[in-house]
Amino acid sequence: MRPLLFLATKILSTTLAFVAFAQAPAAPPHNIVLFVADGLRFRMVDDRAAPTMAAVAREGVSLRNSHSLFPTFTTANASGLATGHMLGDTGDFSNTIYTGFEVPSAGGSQTPFLENDAVLGDVNEHFSGNYLDETTILKLVRDKGYSTASIGKLGPTLIFDSTERSGAQTILIDDATGTPKGIPLSPEVSQRLQAVNLPLAAPSRGANAAAGNVSTPGTISANVVQQDYFAAAATRVVLPMFKERNKPFLLVFWSRDPDGTQHNQGDSLNVLVPGINGPTSLAAIRNADDDLARIRSALSELGLLDSTNIIVTSDHGFSTISKQSQTSSTVATRFSDTLPGHLPFGFVALDLAHALNLPLMDPDDGYKTIGEGKHTKNGNGLIGGDRNNPRAVVAANGGSDLIYIPDGDAATAKRIIDTLLTQDYVSGIFVDSRLGKFPGTLSLDDIALEGAAITPRPAIAISFRSFDTVCGEPVLCTVEVADTALQQGQGMHGSFSRADTWNFMAMQGPDFKSQFVDPAPASNADLGRTIAHLMQLDAQDKGNLVGRVLSETLPNGAMPAVTSRVLVSDPAPNGLATVVNMQMVGGTRYFDAAGFPGRTVGLSSTVLPATTQ
Ligand SMILES: [Zn+2]
Repeated sequence: MRPLLFLATKILSTTLAFVAFAQAPAAPPHNIVLFVADGLRFRMVDDRAAPTMAAVAREGVSLRNSHSLFPTFTTANASGLATGHMLGDTGDFSNTIYTGFEVPSAGGSQTPFLENDAVLGDVNEHFSGNYLDETTILKLVRDKGYSTASIGKLGPTLIFDSTERSGAQTILIDDATGTPKGIPLSPEVSQRLQAVNLPLAAPSRGANAAAGNVSTPGTISANVVQQDYFAAAATRVVLPMFKERNKPFLLVFWSRDPDGTQHNQGDSLNVLVPGINGPTSLAAIRNADDDLARIRSALSELGLLDSTNIIVTSDHGFSTISKQSQTSSTVATRFSDTLPGHLPFGFVALDLAHALNLPLMDPDDGYKTIGEGKHTKNGNGLIGGDRNNPRAVVAANGGSDLIYIPDGDAATAKRIIDTLLTQDYVSGIFVDSRLGKFPGTLSLDDIALEGAAITPRPAIAISFRSFDTVCGEPVLCTVEVADTALQQGQGMHGSFSRADTWNFMAMQGPDFKSQFVDPAPASNADLGRTIAHLMQLDAQDKGNLVGRVLSETLPNGAMPAVTSRVLVSDPAPNGLATVVNMQMVGGTRYFDAAGFPGRTVGLSSTVLPATTQ
């Protein structure tokens, strides 16, 4: 324990620092570039693999105790970055959620994939115009009359300002740009793209989109061509425009790499090594790094580098996929697209329908009933024979799945939990506290998933089992069971292992300390909150699950007091208990890893995790 006096001094100095911020004269804020390298693991960044990011971390601030928000998925973490709130408030619980209505642009699905501009529009419309129900930093910045742009991967790019669909205010360029499903370009942006000989439509991913199948390896190409276009638009059109306007700006650049490549890579079909550490995945990390280097160079050439903060993060880490189970009801069945004995896509929906002895309907394929030897198209499932009143809904996502019980029936929850507790692929069960307490499980409240969200709250979130291939550093060779169409040996994320929660984070610029390694925990919600602070935004919070301003990264900012905790559930009758390793700064929570002891990489049930790794 620290001496009490020392601690009191720390608290006092932190308080004084905040007073000083509040009284600072209202000079215009510096610009911010938020660069997101999708799916980049913290420990993959070094001078060889990602020299630009390594330089930002070395010269600026390295946030080595960083955290993705669980479920460790893209749109969920985009919502945290965009609002400064945790997922219990944003309601973006995963890439695929149950919306409780049939989403027109998702073919009438009630379980849409949110990485889609049209789907985000429909979901916004249904939920009072803004499904997040919190104001995003990009909207707050443009409301001040500053310049805003969001460029890159379809889905998270629009989430930063999803209520602005005209293209007239925030510049929005993503995969759908130039198509009827995209956000339009303003005449000014169109003219300037043409002036530098850039097309008005984003190129496709081309060969990078090839996921392969059970007998064909996936891609061996990083997403170079498409991201060249996004980087060119950012550096040759958007930044010069912002320079001319001579106003503060916030530019979000969301690099699909390394995520899309690590998912689809064809280096490791059906084998666990090299998994996501093969040459294609490394090329994808380098591709993201090259894009950051181009943006940094453009800032320098435009004379903006000294007045711009660069914040680099990734939405989540990554793991290699396993499709192994000894317990699932599905592994004895032959599926045409799955190796014998492997888990098919949608195995949770199949196992739960089997256990509840109810029909399984496919919300993504006309609500047809799934017969023997078949699985649902996107892994999602409505359980019970009535599409308007399902007894349970599975939203399949990858390294974790969400289960909804629309009628709130605790007996259904109990039967589902009992089933999940028998499955070797599960590691960690979290239940809506409104359904009661169940031995072996913790609550969604324990992991900050119960807040002010206006989308349907899941009844149960489950993380899948993870292990490592013994490479010397478990988070660099983690393998996880995943509910996915991809094959064993390809890549996925979403679990509560440290491999998936440990994202890359670093920043550099006029508002940050130099050559500072921050041992305090940080999350993507904190980055949203820190950007709001730096740009002097007045966040109007609805929910209380907010991140913190990372004040220790600012000049004269004091280190906060950090505590570590381990939550352990009551044991289930078979002895399984859900455990959470977490850290706290004041009331702000950081979740390192969670699951059943022995089934999650990075999870300790006995030793407190160190505050620095
Ligand atoms: Zn992602």
